[in-house]
Parts: sequence; structure tokens; C-alpha cells
Amino acid sequence: MKIIQDKSKCINCGSCVAVCPEYFEMENGDVKLKNSKKEGELLKVEIEKEIGSVKEAIEICPVQALKLKK
Ligand code: SF4
Repeated sequence: MKIIQDKSKCINCGSCVAVCPEYFEMENGDVKLKNSKKEGELLKVEIEKEIGSVKEAIEICPVQALKLKK
């Protein structure tokens, strides 16, 4: 499955980094999925299995910029 971060929606609030530092990082105020592939405004990363902190990041994102695709 894949985590997808829509950078056209993301406001770089840092919430996902706080709850899920395994997959998200902030660099110079810009938040992105670690080791992701960029497809236009979308950042994607393949994960083996869904972990709790990813779910939490998706739920906590104030602008629904994150999702999981099976
Ligand atoms: S929680 Fe959402 S808006 Fe905030 S930095 Fe993460 S992806 Fe962007």
C-alpha cells in the first residue's frame, strides 16, 4: 500500500511529523514524506503494512492532504 501526500493541499503545519516521524520530515519549513517519489504535486511512498502512527497522521491532518491507497 502507499501513503500519498498532496502537496497542493498541505499547509506545512507539522502535525504529521509530530505523530509519525517514521514517515514524515520537515526541512526548512517544508513537510514531506520521507524517501517518497514525486508525481506532480503528489508525494508517494510504498509501505509494507499500515502502522498506527500513519493512521494518526492521516486523521490529524487539518486539510486532508494525506491518504492511504491499498
Ligand atoms: S498534517 Fe497535513 S497539512 Fe500538516 S504538514 Fe502534514 S500533510 Fe501537511
